[in-house]
Order: sequence, then C-alpha cells, then structure tokens
Amino acid sequence: MCGIVGGVAERCVTEILIEGLKRLEYRGYDSAGLALLNKEQILRERRVGKVANLAEAVSEQHLTGNIGIAHTRWATHGKPTENNAHPHVSGNVAVVHNGIIENHDQIRSELKEKNVVFETSTDTEVIPHLLSISMKKTNHFFDSCVSVVKKIEGAYAFAAIHSLKEEIFVARKTSPLVLGLGDGYNIVG
Ligand code: GLU
Repeated sequence: MCGIVGGVAERCVTEILIEGLKRLEYRGYDSAGLALLNKEQILRERRVGKVANLAEAVSEQHLTGNIGIAHTRWATHGKPTENNAHPHVSGNVAVVHNGIIENHDQIRSELKEKNVVFETSTDTEVIPHLLSISMKKTNHFFDSCVSVVKKIEGAYAFAAIHSLKEEIFVARKTSPLVLGLGDGYNIVG
C-alpha cells in the first residue's frame, strides 16, 4: 500500500513532505517522488527505491516551495520504474494517487482520440491529463477536479496541484485521507 502527503505552509514544505513520506514507509513501496510549487513552476523529483534516495536528490538540488505533494508508490499498473513513479504531470498539473482507477483503459482511449500523448503505463496518468484539459477550458481548479472525480471509478485518494493556483485539491473514495491543520501549515495524508 502506498501513501500520499501534501502540504501548504508559510515556510518551505520540502522537509514536511519528506518527513511525511518517511512516516508512511512502513506501508511498503517501490519508489517515491514529490512535486513542489515554486514561482509558478512545478519542480518534480522521483526515485526508485527508498525515500532516502529521493531526500538526497531533493536536497542536492535545493528544491523548495510552499506548496507540495509527495508519494510512495506500490505499483499496480506499470513497472516500478522512475518514469512510472508519481507525481505525474500534464501541462501545469501534477498529481499523486493512491489506489486504482478501474476505468482508466476507457479514459485512456478517449484521451488518445484527442491526441493526448501518454508518458507512463500507469492508470494514474489519466487524472492529470483530464485535469489539464478541463483547466484549459475553464481555468477553474476546483470545478475541474470535481469533473475528474465524477469521471473516474475505483477506490482511490489523490492530490493535485496546478502551477498557477496556490492550493492543493484532494479527493478520496473508499481509501482513507486525513487533513491536519497546523500552526502556519496544513497537511494531508
Ligand atoms: N495505481 C497507481 C500506480 O500503479 C497507484 C499505486 C499506488 O497506490 O501506489 O501507479
């Protein structure tokens, strides 16, 4: 079972995310990754293996941001490779996801008809693509995320960010998800 962590803080969230991932390690995983929002850009780093590998890469590159999402993956669709590790990105959107999108094959076919190019073999990747397409039409993050929730089937929790929106959207169905309100920061896991 994998895990997701997200954080919004007055200070940099990198340490909060890495600490959160470490606390989820007991659940088992094959790879880890995170995405940070920094000056209207999404900075992403992913590594196969231990959270410590990811932490080292993130620290070497001095990745910082006040909003971020992170993930430990237990592959269900697609091999446990760096490319299949979360977060998955499409346009300005990044997503981490726990669980399975049961109707991903059908959505993938529909998106391919719209010339969407897939970079991974995960079920998850349909989420950022759907979100990105909806954002181009509406530029409304919450509504776009809700439209994705209405489209996907399965048991899941996911967290999404957009490079131009200072917020994290989270949703869950059957899978657990908790919100923590802190002093100067809020987190989700
Ligand atoms: N189904 C997704 C994948 O294979 C998420 C797996 C998980 O819960 O870690 O990437």
